[in-house]
Amino acid sequence: MTAFKGYEKFNETRVPEIKDKLAALKDGQSPPTLFITCSDSRICANDMTQTDYGQLFVIRNAGNSILPANEENGDADQATLEYAVKALGVQEIVICGHSHCGLVTAACSGVDRNQLKYIDNYLGKFADLQATVREKGLELVDAIHTNVRNQMKNVLSYDFVQEQVKAGKLKIHGWYYTLETGSVEVVDTIDAL
Ligand SMILES: [Zn+2]
Repeated sequence: MTAFKGYEKFNETRVPEIKDKLAALKDGQSPPTLFITCSDSRICANDMTQTDYGQLFVIRNAGNSILPANEENGDADQATLEYAVKALGVQEIVICGHSHCGLVTAACSGVDRNQLKYIDNYLGKFADLQATVREKGLELVDAIHTNVRNQMKNVLSYDFVQEQVKAGKLKIHGWYYTLETGSVEVVDTIDAL
């Protein structure tokens, strides 16, 4: 279904059912979770976490990535992370990688720069992953796990994240989501420093 058709249906049938819930949203938000996952359309973040309006703060991009703290260039995802931790006070950050990830596949094999210039530029952010893949000859599944761990490390590179983890107020979870079965494997958890 296209987004526009879906919206028409939502507006006709769903909005009347939940109009009170929607009206209450104007008072603010305090989601417990920042969920960082891939842009892949096969991941339905609210469905797989059974979260409702106001419960899941989300960053989505190809490869569920976040830049490390030392790269300061006005990046939207860095700003979103800062807001989630400092303004909203989320209690957990989930990095959710997934099976059959196109970005990690591209990182493993490389892309034709003449055809895919922007993707090739972006793959520069995954240089550590590419080095590990080359060094250890990782299969895709293991490369996706490694990427989740690398992104957890990047999240933890921010001083405001470290402070909250040290204070016991924030946990970082790494997940591997198998989209063909709907199952999650916990790759790693950081709950203390
Ligand atoms: Zn992906």
